Amino acid sequence: MATFPHDCPHCGTKNSGFEIKGKFDFFDSINHRNTSAWFLMCGNPECTFPAVAVAQALDRVHLRGFYPTPHEPDLPDHMPENVEHYYLQAESILQQHADAAGAMYRKALDVGLKIRFPEIEGLLASRLKKLVNQGLLTEELGDFSHHVRLGGNDAVHDEDPFTVNEAKELGFLTKMVMTYIYTLPEMIRLRQERVDAEKAAAEE
Ligand SMILES: [Zn+2]
Repeated sequence: MATFPHDCPHCGTKNSGFEIKGKFDFFDSINHRNTSAWFLMCGNPECTFPAVAVAQALDRVHLRGFYPTPHEPDLPDHMPENVEHYYLQAESILQQHADAAGAMYRKALDVGLKIRFPEIEGLLASRLKKLVNQGLLTEELGDFSHHVRLGGNDAVHDEDPFTVNEAKELGFLTKMVMTYIYTLPEMIRLRQERVDAEKAAAEE
């Protein structure tokens, strides 16, 4: 059976040998390429999940597309460097090691809140209560954060395996909190800076 190497978008295996299970020709007039190409139905022997490749009919298989597309890291803007480091680590191991990713999202949240609110001290659970009581986090974001805290603990200590979807949910909630405490204030600050600069320029 013909195979070709590609990173698996499902389980994250690098250069996995995708097996071509079937192909059909199409004539690509939509993209005005006017070339013959194939859709290749393929399967990954590592995880058995399917994928579709678009290959150009050249002397050798030349990939023009691959679906589903692999998970790309999705980072909130303007996070401090080490928060970004933990968050990115979680994103990059999400598919292969959901439990480790869950623990890393929790760590990104923990460190992110510590850096943003250094005056609020204690363990994460008690800091979250104080942040909500003092109005520094909304109640909803406090709930999100508690969910990440508990989920991250489960990912480390629970006997049942942590799933990719559970880790993804922690990632989404962490992203919302980081967006609120880092991305939005910085966007507003940058916008204000632009407005002030334009005003100053107009008054010159
Ligand atoms: Zn796979």
